[in-house]
Amino acid sequence: MSDWRSVCTAFVAGLIGLIYPPPSLAQSENPWYKAGQSELRTHLARQPNTATARNIILFLADGNGIATNYATRIFQGQRLGGYGDEHIMAKERMPYLALAKTYTTNAQTPDSAGTAVAFLSGIKTKNGVLGVDETLRRGECDDVAGAQVNSIGDLAHVMGKSVGIISTARITHATTAALYAHAADRTFEHDGAQPKGCVVPDIAAQLLQEMVTGKLDLALGGGRRNFLPRSVTGEEGSPGKRQDGRNMIAEALDAGIQYAWDNASFARLNRDHSAPVLGLFASSHMSYEHDRRDEPSIVDMTQSAINYLSNNQKGYFLLVESGRVDHANHRNNAFRALVDGSAFDDAVARAVAMTDPGDTLIIVTADHGHTMAINGYCGRGSPILGLCMKIDPKGESHRDRPNLAADNKPYTAIGYLNGPGSIITRQADGTYFGTRPVPDQAGVTDPDYIQQSALPRGSQTHSPVDLAIYAQGPWAHLFDGTVEQNYIYHVMRHAFEAK
Ligand SMILES: [Zn+2]
Repeated sequence: MSDWRSVCTAFVAGLIGLIYPPPSLAQSENPWYKAGQSELRTHLARQPNTATARNIILFLADGNGIATNYATRIFQGQRLGGYGDEHIMAKERMPYLALAKTYTTNAQTPDSAGTAVAFLSGIKTKNGVLGVDETLRRGECDDVAGAQVNSIGDLAHVMGKSVGIISTARITHATTAALYAHAADRTFEHDGAQPKGCVVPDIAAQLLQEMVTGKLDLALGGGRRNFLPRSVTGEEGSPGKRQDGRNMIAEALDAGIQYAWDNASFARLNRDHSAPVLGLFASSHMSYEHDRRDEPSIVDMTQSAINYLSNNQKGYFLLVESGRVDHANHRNNAFRALVDGSAFDDAVARAVAMTDPGDTLIIVTADHGHTMAINGYCGRGSPILGLCMKIDPKGESHRDRPNLAADNKPYTAIGYLNGPGSIITRQADGTYFGTRPVPDQAGVTDPDYIQQSALPRGSQTHSPVDLAIYAQGPWAHLFDGTVEQNYIYHVMRHAFEAK
């Protein structure tokens, strides 16, 4: 019966189509129109993947807000020789997207600790604390035991999966530490940073403990100084920070953990999963990508980690943090933010190429934004790190003539609301006065250029603006609409446990 009904419906629709053919559009052969049609067909063909996720890779670029993301797209596209606008980053090829609300329980503007607890443990908590809920009084070690929460790493371990973390910042820094540590303050990275009598091991000691007990299989990043005593100098000549005399790199080696500190020792690591891997490639944070010398890139670390973790047939959880987009933004140095953001996207591309979307959920997001903003009325092809160029009255881009602000001076495409590049500067008599230096193309495109900002601050602030979450793989379609940041954990858990 219903078959007959559908045949009749199709017949009538066909007749109507013959009598009233769709109007031919003047623009139907326009390449933009055809591209839009092709994009529509891609979306119509999408089928949600409801398989169980064997693996989950969570990519997190610290401080990579919407404006930084936009600027990185243009930057990457212009490096490839285009205008930039049309470029599609690896994460932007993913089929699903949501916006995350990033506030924490005590802050409209979040930090990297509170936000990491949200996406790694599924709850909102205070700024500045790791692996604990909001009942903890910040800095009070005695409160930790009663406030501890579990992370997605704990769940993956219980499920028999391997767990890995990567950061271009210190591996004891907020984002990655939230996976394996419980701390009353994110700054408790080594024992000397903790209050006297703190009953909880410092963050570096907790990391080693997790590796020795087999809960954490791989950790690659910076922060070597937090594992060495003050009396010991690291491979590159910087002393350790520890006051308890522990040489935790020696302890790791004694426990059978493999250790790497530069490119050569990184290349020698055994990736057959026979022993856990600890890579500490810098005393503090690893270098910005632009300044990187004898350290593996985020792409190299991601590839190595996936190779290593894939040996476990039960799967893995991997957290990859690009930690220094945040630091460059704090300095108003857009160049390094975009170069690191671009390397981060290259790591995403490598992971996509190495994994099967049928069994691996890949999520790409940030923890919070910054006050970077993009100035306007720039013609196409204006260099994203340079001056904002004119569009002439006939509608063509004018890449030799910059737009002028009301003070008759050019302005760059990228600016910040606050930070060290403030146009309001401190005078000899202690007062502040605003007069903008004249930016010129050679100066503003130098890697060390500090973008102009409105308010003066020694370090530019975070911003609470919503963030993009990109996803592909099992249950990625659950990233849809405007969601709370802690929802990310719940999708990951569902994808791991779905039957
Ligand atoms: Zn920051």
